[in-house]
Amino acid sequence: MSLASLFANKCLEYLLHDDVQQRPGRKTPPHPPWSSAAEKFHSLCNGCGACVAACPNKIVALSEDRLPVLDFSQGGCTFCGDCARSCPTGALQFEQEKEPWNIRARIADNCLLAERVLCRTCGDCCEQRAIVFPLADDGQLPKILSDQCSGCGACAGVCPADAIYFAANQKGE
Ligand code: SF4
Ligand code: SF4
Ligand code: SF4
Repeated sequence: MSLASLFANKCLEYLLHDDVQQRPGRKTPPHPPWSSAAEKFHSLCNGCGACVAACPNKIVALSEDRLPVLDFSQGGCTFCGDCARSCPTGALQFEQEKEPWNIRARIADNCLLAERVLCRTCGDCCEQRAIVFPLADDGQLPKILSDQCSGCGACAGVCPADAIYFAANQKGE
């Protein structure tokens, strides 16, 4: 079997695996950048979908409960601010000087490197150079440098194992 076939088979195995179907990122997609704090966001957002229509990258979608969430399967966020500027209720509020959000990428343990399958796809897509790979092929996962990661999501949609999810940055990480 060629290396390419082996890689494709490993990817398929992982995508069909229960753990992958339930990866954290699927459960907790982030709201658009410049979202108000959670309680305020939920009270202000009326699910009008203006932010969905405004996003030039088509990565904002309405969830089942009609709240906007990001879907990085189609690409990453450029932090253009169009979604936040379009919001009529103040649930999203664009402020040039304000950090768009505090989320960072995380890598789950279904990353192909855990099975010693060579993959650097996420790192190749990260303009911030925020993903550091282990030097040895010893099953260690890549590390995300929290002070460099913008949470843009460019790495998430390209991951063949669907192993990248997002969470709030904790102080000191
Ligand atoms: S900041 Fe721009 S690219 Fe990012 S979600 Fe909003 S509209 Fe889309
Ligand atoms: S979210 Fe963006 S900045 Fe962070 S690791 Fe992924 S591609 Fe790099
Ligand atoms: S793209 Fe990154 S997170 Fe996904 S399998 Fe490859 S090395 Fe792991």
